[in-house]
Amino acid sequence: MIKIPSQVNRALKILYDNGYSAYVVGGAVRDAFMGRSADDWDITTSALPQEILKAFNGFRVIETGIKHGTVTAIVEGMSIEITTYRVDGGYSDNRHPDSVRFTGRIEEDLMRRDFTMNAVAVSPGGETVDPFGGRDDIEKRLIRCVGEPEKRFKEDALRILRALRFSSVLNFKIEENTAESIHKCRELLKNVSCERIFAELCKLLCGQAAERILTDFSDVIFAVLPELEPMKNCGQKNPYHIYDVWIHTVRSVAAVAPERELRLAMLFHDSGKPKTKFTDENGIDHFYDHAKVSREIAEKSLARMKTSNKLRETVSGLVEYHDFCPHKISKKTYRRYIALLGADTVRSLFEIRRADSAAHAPFVYEQTLKENITGLKILEEIEKEDSCFSIKDLKINGKDLEKSGIEPSPLMGEVLERLLDEVMDDKTENEKEALLKRASELAKGAGNGNS
Ligand code: ATP
Ligand code: MG
Repeated sequence: MIKIPSQVNRALKILYDNGYSAYVVGGAVRDAFMGRSADDWDITTSALPQEILKAFNGFRVIETGIKHGTVTAIVEGMSIEITTYRVDGGYSDNRHPDSVRFTGRIEEDLMRRDFTMNAVAVSPGGETVDPFGGRDDIEKRLIRCVGEPEKRFKEDALRILRALRFSSVLNFKIEENTAESIHKCRELLKNVSCERIFAELCKLLCGQAAERILTDFSDVIFAVLPELEPMKNCGQKNPYHIYDVWIHTVRSVAAVAPERELRLAMLFHDSGKPKTKFTDENGIDHFYDHAKVSREIAEKSLARMKTSNKLRETVSGLVEYHDFCPHKISKKTYRRYIALLGADTVRSLFEIRRADSAAHAPFVYEQTLKENITGLKILEEIEKEDSCFSIKDLKINGKDLEKSGIEPSPLMGEVLERLLDEVMDDKTENEKEALLKRASELAKGAGNGNS
């Protein structure tokens, strides 16, 4: 017996009291059988959309997807999706049903659902409708298509990535026929919107079994991110590495903290290696400036995925600087990094390095941890100081310059930029008097010989 929240039970009762049948279904039921708590509860019912609206008269309702039969009701503060039992018509675009038909039979509704584990319905009394053995598969931790896998993936190719995502997040195996069809149908993902692909990809990357999925289904990953494919079988013969570039990448993704930006950065960090590979006369492989090329690849791929600018900038910054040497750089350089990337991203670079080195030859890891400790000490010192990383951190502003006779003009902007440079380089103190003096020198052109 699963535990259904009181709000959901209340919604089910409202439907029953109005003469309809209704069940909880989908991810929340699956999670409940696994002993996991869920936030998003879905109800499926014989009531037609207009009938749902009528039954929930007096509640706040949102007509989420009324054409497809979905209404969201807010019951005691909880949003509950209520959908009419439905049969999906043909699919001609590999993603959306051409039409939907409402039905009075729960079994028909369960047939349209993607995987057996997601096609179990439970009534308020605890009666389970489970025509495809979903509970058994949950028990066995197995992802299996409802019906014939190839047909189901051709209907809606997003299901391919949903399968991989569930497998990664829940650490479920993918049943053999389902897995085979995933490989076979992977190119159909080209017909799915990049936003949906990206959302699934991020969840997949942050899942507990990301390493297994990226290894066993690399062909599917390359179908959505072809830029990554050259990493596969790209050897790196040098003392630091024991894996090829793709295996190293996959291991480093799994080693980094499961946050979207960090996992994406690991996925792309060495993507520029195949293009920059150079084998010297001793047979040793070098990849000069690969991080810059990796950055270009990350930027281009993420732009294609239509991600936010902020996410793209963070990931690209992490990729470009993943190879930095935290123990060797000066405070001045740290300040430049902070000015360029932001303090949070600079901190994340340490985690990126740690994960990167965990996927190198074993001796590299210990060394990296030591270097990180040294680097973090420098960073902490900077953070304790009253540091200055941008023009707004300067102890003077445009108004102060105006008072001292520098009119608002491109020259004023240049002077402020120069002052910031000099403060970050410890050449000028970030004190009002010193800055004003230096500003007037710079404005007169007297400071040029000084730096
Ligand atoms: P989670 O919410 O944890 O991501 P979920 O299984 O609840 O997982 P939703 O996207 O919320 O996934 O969908 C709810 C239910 O709707 C699923 O459990 C499944 O039964 C059905 N479903 C969702 N997307 C599809 C799809 N593309 N094809 C077929 N059935 C689907
Ligand atoms: Mg859900």
